[in-house]
Amino acid sequence: MSEKQFINYYRCPNDGQEWVDVWSCCCNDRCPKCGMKDIEPYKSQDVIHTTPRKV
Ligand SMILES: [Zn+2]
Repeated sequence: MSEKQFINYYRCPNDGQEWVDVWSCCCNDRCPKCGMKDIEPYKSQDVIHTTPRKV
């Protein structure tokens, strides 16, 4: 069974703070520095946690 997650990359438009978070979906986050809410990820990357398939 695999679990799909997203790595979301955020950048705060207010102070330029950048951070990365992993979620099970794409969602908005809050700036850890100034607390500004509802920041959308500028980039999302999906990660699938599986063991490499044996051939
Ligand atoms: Zn900020």
